[in-house]
Amino acid sequence: MNGWTDICVNLTDRRFANKQADIVEQAIEANVNRMIIAGTDQASSEAALALCQQHPEHLFSTAGFHPHDAKNATASALSAIQALLQEPGVVAVGETGLDFNRDFSPRPQQISVFERQLEMAAEFKKPLLLHERDAHTEQREILSSYRDHLQGAVLHCFTGDRKALYNYLDLDLYIGITGWICDERRGESLRELIKDIPADRLLLETDAPYLTPRDYKPKPKGGTNSPALLPHIGQTVARLRNEDWQQLQYQTSDNACRLFQLPGN
Ligand SMILES: [Zn+2]
Repeated sequence: MNGWTDICVNLTDRRFANKQADIVEQAIEANVNRMIIAGTDQASSEAALALCQQHPEHLFSTAGFHPHDAKNATASALSAIQALLQEPGVVAVGETGLDFNRDFSPRPQQISVFERQLEMAAEFKKPLLLHERDAHTEQREILSSYRDHLQGAVLHCFTGDRKALYNYLDLDLYIGITGWICDERRGESLRELIKDIPADRLLLETDAPYLTPRDYKPKPKGGTNSPALLPHIGQTVARLRNEDWQQLQYQTSDNACRLFQLPGN
């Protein structure tokens, strides 16, 4: 599998407004050949698909409601998501899950919108791009009850502890690692856990424009992260795992193609 694969880019974020084509071009120049553009509500899921249609060989999208936006998931918005999931280029349901850290949407609503999307994933046989913060117990319980009906899922931006990691691996989840790992202080526990992730479960992501790798030099303009910085994250992960970075590039892209059924695999 040639090049790196960034499994979570928030390319519809307003920080990328009118710059999306440049961002994609810079990423491809940096050998990031596949990017999954995350949707977080109806509008961003539609915008993500529109971006994919401009770069169909490099970009793929997700459609879903982020827990922060669960409060806006009306019946009509959810049926729009359902329609998007039937479009070519839309490779996963998400970003979805539970966030009990910020609580931007009421918890019961987060749970019901999450469950609705798990049903869609089962119905349309799509994998899931999962988010979770401070809701490990609940998320794990809900996932367990849908597990037999799912086509696989990745817990994106994993920053949890050893117990959470093993619980998610037990549910057959893939684990997404961001530039959080590049932060010696904040990422300390993750740096200790990185070797515990089986090679065939590991995925890489920038989560751009968020989570700029702290040690990246020169500091990107405005502190904005971009998918072109993925190789830096990949090289850091390879070093911490005592692996060859080219082997890691191949392996993680192969994993992404398997999970998201990307072409070329
Ligand atoms: Zn997230």
